Amino acid sequence: MEKYDIVVCGAGVGGVFMAYELTKVQNNARVLVIDAGGPIEKRVCPISTGKTKQCINCNPCSIMNGYGGAGGLSDGKYNLTTQFGGDLHQYLGEEKAMALMYYVDEVLCGMGGGGAKLYSTANSELKTKCLQHDLHLLDAQVRHLGTDTNVKILGNIYEYVKDRIDIHFYERVADITQEGDGTFRVHTDKETYGAENVVLATGRSGSEWMSEICGKFGIPTKKNRVDIGVRVELPAEVFKHITDQVYESKIVYQTEKYNDLVRTFCMNPYGEVVSENTNGIVTVNGHSYSNPELRTGNTNFALLVSNHFTEPFEDSNEYGQAIASLSNMLGGGVLMQRFGDLVKGRRSSARRMEKCFTKPTLHATAGDLSLVIPKRQLDDIIEMIYALDTIAPGTANEDTLLYGVEVKFYNSKVEVDSNLMTRVPGLYAIGDGSGVTHSLSQASASGIYVARELAEKY
Ligand SMILES: Cc1cc2nc3c(=O)[nH]c(=O)nc-3n(C[C@H](O)[C@H](O)[C@H](O)COP(=O)(O)OP(=O)(O)OC[C@H]3O[C@@H](n4cnc5c(N)ncnc54)[C@H](O)[C@@H]3O)c2cc1C
Repeated sequence: MEKYDIVVCGAGVGGVFMAYELTKVQNNARVLVIDAGGPIEKRVCPISTGKTKQCINCNPCSIMNGYGGAGGLSDGKYNLTTQFGGDLHQYLGEEKAMALMYYVDEVLCGMGGGGAKLYSTANSELKTKCLQHDLHLLDAQVRHLGTDTNVKILGNIYEYVKDRIDIHFYERVADITQEGDGTFRVHTDKETYGAENVVLATGRSGSEWMSEICGKFGIPTKKNRVDIGVRVELPAEVFKHITDQVYESKIVYQTEKYNDLVRTFCMNPYGEVVSENTNGIVTVNGHSYSNPELRTGNTNFALLVSNHFTEPFEDSNEYGQAIASLSNMLGGGVLMQRFGDLVKGRRSSARRMEKCFTKPTLHATAGDLSLVIPKRQLDDIIEMIYALDTIAPGTANEDTLLYGVEVKFYNSKVEVDSNLMTRVPGLYAIGDGSGVTHSLSQASASGIYVARELAEKY
């Protein structure tokens, strides 16, 4: 049995940045990173190659699994903020969390992202305009890498760490056990490894497995919220004055009808809408390229409403899954509807879509989202679209496309201390899998943080 000082389960950005820092900082730790998916160059979604138009449930899913994790083929928008994207600052303090995110940004720039622009929403004209229309723009700086540059950077980091760190692909961690002396055994579908420290970095796709491990080790977890909504797609010109200025805008609106908060999320100028498969449930997402030749004529972003349940039902994720399953049942995957059809209470048929001026970038089934999304959330979304129309006229056009459903599942919050260690000494939880972070910047920062902690030990 091979023995390691540190075994990292998951090579998403949490695991990748851990490996980076453990390579950079002086230490003698033997380190293994294991991922259920493949190397970055082998990660190809059959939808993107045109082999299929609908998600065919690949195992492992190339969008969610493999080197770079769910962020690997993403848009690569690194938001430098603690206003959203996770609660890392609640564990490490605001200053440390921000410093780690700036460090991540420095690494990204040094590894090939230096040419990507850093946008800022602070003191922008947009902020004033939003306030004049009862919309609230959150402060953030964002480095938009684009999917192509993001992949290049991940490749460069791999080259940097590969001689120092063992990285195993297409290997799934099945179980973790602890010996009498406190060391661990990491059992995969191929081998068993000995480890002094284990870092759980299994992200969203590993959420169920993470719950099992926490249950087994008696590590308390707290249910998180689930965000439900749609992905909006419209001609890029409609949002150009905003996206040119700040690229990504997180705008929050409180609806008049229910006082619910609705927010924009993951804005992709000139991007494309994609489907995403989490544990067999197909939902929708989006990304865009930095290479002008790969750009589309559309901008897409999500509109999300947060749902948090307490009693007697408390599993927010199950609620999100049930709604997404309904859309999968009706649409065979993702459903798509024109905004005009939605407000008129009619289905968007294939015939209506043919006349639609906004051309969809994802092949989805034309249908009726009101049969899937509960009335409250749907009313919230419609109200938000009219609110956004005041700062970006054209948002509420008949041909604005809505894809459903977009669900943001948040992992249960794993109880960790200020070192991101669980109550089991030597067992750490980082990134989105811990429920502490929900973004590339914060997940990466958590990896750097624990790497530095562990490097000191060795
Ligand atoms: C399409 C898309 C676009 C996105 N765009 C952005 C964006 O622009 N900006 C942003 O901030 N965030 C974005 N996100 C979210 C972002 O990707 C995540 O916040 C981030 O990837 C979390 O990193 P992580 O390392 O914690 O987990 P993940 O990236 O989820 O990585 C976890 C890894 O663990 C592996 N794994 C899981 N279970 C096991 C197991 N049992 N054994 C071995 N390996 C396992 C998986 O294969 C995976 O590679 C996007 C997500 C998607 C899906």
